[in-house]
Amino acid sequence: MKKIAVSNVRTRRLQADDRRYLWHPFTQQQDWEKERPLIIERGQGVYLEDSEGRRYLDGVSSIWVNLHGHRKPALNRALTAQLGRIAHSTMLGISNPPAIALAKKLVRLAPAGLSRVFYSDNGSTAVEVALKMAFQYWRYQGEEGANKTKFLHLGQAYHGDTLGAVGVGGIPLFHERYTPLLVPSYEAHAPYCYRCPLGLSLPGCRIACADSVADILKRHHAEIAAVIVEPLLLAAGGMLVQPRGYLTKLRRLCTEYHALLIADEVATGFGRTGTMFACEHERVKPDLMAVSKGLTGGYMPLAATLTTERVYRAFYGRYDEFKTFFHGHSYTGNPLGCAVALANLEVFERERTLEKLQPKIQALQRWLTPLEQLPHVGDIRQLGFVVGIELVRDRASKNTYPLSERVGHRVAEETRRLGMLIRPLGNVIVLMPPLSTSLKELRQMVEILKQAITTVTGGPGQSHSVV
Ligand SMILES: *Cc1c(COP(=O)(O)O)cnc(C)c1O
Repeated sequence: MKKIAVSNVRTRRLQADDRRYLWHPFTQQQDWEKERPLIIERGQGVYLEDSEGRRYLDGVSSIWVNLHGHRKPALNRALTAQLGRIAHSTMLGISNPPAIALAKKLVRLAPAGLSRVFYSDNGSTAVEVALKMAFQYWRYQGEEGANKTKFLHLGQAYHGDTLGAVGVGGIPLFHERYTPLLVPSYEAHAPYCYRCPLGLSLPGCRIACADSVADILKRHHAEIAAVIVEPLLLAAGGMLVQPRGYLTKLRRLCTEYHALLIADEVATGFGRTGTMFACEHERVKPDLMAVSKGLTGGYMPLAATLTTERVYRAFYGRYDEFKTFFHGHSYTGNPLGCAVALANLEVFERERTLEKLQPKIQALQRWLTPLEQLPHVGDIRQLGFVVGIELVRDRASKNTYPLSERVGHRVAEETRRLGMLIRPLGNVIVLMPPLSTSLKELRQMVEILKQAITTVTGGPGQSHSVV
């Protein structure tokens, strides 16, 4: 009893200081300051533990980063061992063993042709690096590249929050207000099958949404340096799974119209979709690839941009030609991050993570099927270990709940009460468990989700209880 009372007092103090001193990401602070923030103090496996000792399933892998669970001994050991040597040294003019070993390993694992690794700190910077490399590559291609200063992205795309990445974003709520600050980029139709922008449906449509990419490239290829895409899955845009063949079409179009293809694998990389990288599903070889989130298994902020020898060699030149890639961060190639990333990738091999994942992906699909019967579930989208459940006010018309009703947020509050933490994307409920989640834990997660959705939106036969 006494111990609990002490932890309560301490929690209150932490909550007060949080409200007093912090500014949280993607958060309306005026609402936040009225709440009692949950304070996570520990983790073990797929569980998070708050400052008062309550445990929660980590239903979104701590925002899509965790892979092998929290406090994974092999990862803890790698970090501790590296701390015994050095925490950080620069990559400017010198190098370090973990950065070298990780680059070698990434090149071995990545789609064929990606042979060079440039480090940065997070998904947004990995995208910035890719955009700047693509732009600068065309500067060295003579006449043909002279006007290639723009990009092409998809509607509902999300590539990060720094200005370059926002410039190629396609989510109006997040991106539109910053328009005056951004580099110009063409936007193609979102491959959003449930709400097809062309009013078509598979397979009869024959992926007509890709034609909008073709149209833009046909008209503007002389200005377009690169097409950027989240392969197979537009993640933050609502977990939109692209139709099979879509990525292959993009690859062909990029080759035909001489635009580089940037694969943003920040969300999809490292096993999330069932293969190491999402590009592998269609054997697509991008010209540049951005990775971060799962790279360190959810341990340290680290990112990498991979590219081909062709792009790399375009930057060769005499020193005073200044063809240098003028980009770098204080913590580029951070040894702690690289050491834990290396250990993270070794776990995949030692524990056969991807092999063990396949039956769990199938079980997840089976267990999700009954949720299709819930009256306010419009669409269930799954790719590997990623799930998006789009809630609708009315199934027949696909009428959506206004964002102001915060239906997704209420479902998340309910799952929290039931022992699982998730973070929705508007009206899309997201489940993205760590790859190490056991069948038993996975089943529990789906049950909690089902119960929470039913409670918030109304069960079978009931009308919804929202508002
Ligand atoms: C999260 C994400 C980013 C941005 O990564 P940060 O580490 O949050 O900057 C970029 N692209 C995709 C596809 C993402 O999901």
